[in-house]
Amino acid sequence: MIKTSSPFTPPSAPAILYKNNLYKLIKAMIKDYKSVIGIYREKKDQVAMDATGTWLTTDITKKLDDLGGKWAKKFQEFAEDHSKKFVMKMLRLSNTQIKQVLKDWFADKRLELIGQVIPTEIKQVVKADIAYNVNLITDIQAQYHNRVFGSVMRSVANGGSLKQLSLEINRYGVQEYTRAKNIAIDQTKKVFTSITLHNCQRLGIQKMKWLHSHARKEPRPLHIRKWDGKSSPQKPNGLDGLIFNINEPPLIQEEKVSKNGKVTPAIYGYPSQLPFCGCIMVAVME
Ligand SMILES: [Zn+2]
Repeated sequence: MIKTSSPFTPPSAPAILYKNNLYKLIKAMIKDYKSVIGIYREKKDQVAMDATGTWLTTDITKKLDDLGGKWAKKFQEFAEDHSKKFVMKMLRLSNTQIKQVLKDWFADKRLELIGQVIPTEIKQVVKADIAYNVNLITDIQAQYHNRVFGSVMRSVANGGSLKQLSLEINRYGVQEYTRAKNIAIDQTKKVFTSITLHNCQRLGIQKMKWLHSHARKEPRPLHIRKWDGKSSPQKPNGLDGLIFNINEPPLIQEEKVSKNGKVTPAIYGYPSQLPFCGCIMVAVME
């Protein structure tokens, strides 16, 4: 007889907070980088007289280097502080849900152990999650800086217009906002899922059931298809309803071969692991 729990649902509030904090930081960074345009505007006439343009380039390069150093430091500090708080919050939220979702199954003392002391294996998961988030966040600044730097240098070399440059600096900003939003949503789901899976294993739960959320406009066909009850998690006909062993993540994306023969290998993993995947899971007891 198979028993299933209520679903584990990644919380949405931490994703919103994560996104808002990043937006604030990106907004301040873009504003600061726009000061480069000011220098450019001020000196552009002088450059027109100086055929080599060397003087202006040196001036702007120095300003961009200063900005790069300043914002790399700000993003690093924010990333370390924020990622730690974020992951610890996810740990607390996962613990709370586990206790709620599984309280009927574990009327004994086992549930009380969840959350009191963080065991070594969870500490490792948490540490890896923090490091990964720090990287994602600092890369927003690094990418933005490189793009702006490239644009400014191209503009100086080609005598491009200030308007064009200003538009590009804005466009790169918009791209980083989108990226920040996706990181916030994806990380909230992934970190929650990875901590929850590890905690469930500690309670002796071996299996999970995959549930499609039916929330996405364009669901992945493999994820929305009902599992036939017999195909293996390594080669499932569909993921919705699939029961899998926590230690053996199912196939979540088939191998892809592009027209020019480039092979993207198959991916094995858990609900919510792929970008924009809203699938969830329930615990299974047999
Ligand atoms: Zn999915």
